[in-house]
Amino acid sequence: MSRSPEVRHKKFHKNTGTRKKLAATSAAKPAAAVANPLGRPARIRRAALATATTVGGGMPQTKAKIRMYRQGLGDCFLVTLPRKEGKPYRILIDCGVILGTSQAVMRMTQVVDSVVAETNGHVDLMLATHQHWDHLSGFVQATESFKNLSVDNVWVAWTEDPGDELANQLRGERQQAVETLRLAGAALTLSGDATNAEAVDGLLGFFGAAGGASTEDALRLAMGKGKVRYCRPTDQPIELADPEVRLYLLGPPHDPTLIRKTLPSAKAPETYGLAARTQSLSDVMAVSDADAPFEAGRSIPFSSAQSMAFFRQRYWGPSADAPAWRRIDTAWLDGASELALALDSATNNTSLVLAIEFGDGDVLLFAADAQVGNWLSWQGLSWQVKDKTVTGPDLLARTVFYKVGHHGSHNATLRQAGLELMSKLKIAAIPVDHEMAKLKNWGNMPLPELLEALDKQASIGVIRIDQDPVGAIPGIIVDPLYFDIIF
Ligand SMILES: [Zn+2]
Repeated sequence: MSRSPEVRHKKFHKNTGTRKKLAATSAAKPAAAVANPLGRPARIRRAALATATTVGGGMPQTKAKIRMYRQGLGDCFLVTLPRKEGKPYRILIDCGVILGTSQAVMRMTQVVDSVVAETNGHVDLMLATHQHWDHLSGFVQATESFKNLSVDNVWVAWTEDPGDELANQLRGERQQAVETLRLAGAALTLSGDATNAEAVDGLLGFFGAAGGASTEDALRLAMGKGKVRYCRPTDQPIELADPEVRLYLLGPPHDPTLIRKTLPSAKAPETYGLAARTQSLSDVMAVSDADAPFEAGRSIPFSSAQSMAFFRQRYWGPSADAPAWRRIDTAWLDGASELALALDSATNNTSLVLAIEFGDGDVLLFAADAQVGNWLSWQGLSWQVKDKTVTGPDLLARTVFYKVGHHGSHNATLRQAGLELMSKLKIAAIPVDHEMAKLKNWGNMPLPELLEALDKQASIGVIRIDQDPVGAIPGIIVDPLYFDIIF
């Protein structure tokens, strides 16, 4: 597996062919695994994490264990919070891998079996952050294994609430975009443009809409596992007595403008790297909404024209190698990929964002795939908790662990209103598989400028699922199937 030239920030990483090892060894591996797989000295900056390195039930003097699964490009996190009395409190956040991953069913089954083994078949809380395949596919792909896992509570964003008017509006917009894309895919196939048809199909695959089970199906399976709660950032944080933590929901914002804002502002970008030239879903839909030039009664349907000798000769012909550029029927489809990207970002921005606050003030931040408007909205959040006021920026300032937004992409970690506020950050964790991202044409995932900034900000470093750390790092357990990060 070749290393990407784009990845320059290695502090303690070495790519050792994770995916191959995952398939070959993890099934047989016991839960307590390699602490120092490469036998090299650790290169750790400043303080390490908790000194406890034992796993498999016993968690002496730790306040949290975060397990980041290494299934491929996708999210699955298991957070274990020890209690003074009784079994630890478990939170499962998402469970999916990107469409097109090889042996996806086998991988996701391994992941879910591992969750079951680690939790003795029970989690207290599960979050399904948003409707994307790479966050939810496991519920479809490992249904049988999920039967061995009981779940008390399932939290989803208010955007899934059928009783919420704004949620229904957004759903309508997304549905309209999906339909347009389906039409585009079909038209491209008809016109013989297999490459672009495949590209559009691939983008629809995000939603599992290209055939087979959809993300909607996966979400329904997830929501069927426990007592459902639709979460809003204005909700009072949930306080657990044992473990001593508060759970805050930061996003998605219940605000018609911010929920639709997926991209950085052109003039003063809030993010890292160059501002992207893509557009928001509402912009793209406004453009592609244009009426057809002729009424239905005065036009010849595409499929009929194909069977008419005149058009076969003069439009598609005369011979099979007639140049495709002469035809105009796919001109309107140029915007299809733009639309698909905008649709993808719109869905990402509905991400449920969780902050776990400990009694000592430390915060673990799980940003799912939140985009610009979602992040911006945290700036205005505040909650009255006991005798103090806690704000969004407060929580960012106390963040010691950050689950990096949207696999390290360009518009899912803010600079000033985000990472630069995280002055206590120790570990940034990125669930990304760069090789897979490249196959999907997302060569900038993760974004090099963002990697650099994360690496600078995080006192211990950046940990990503497609790379093994070089040497042992106290507090981090490396297994081919997961990383355990112990605080
Ligand atoms: Zn994602």
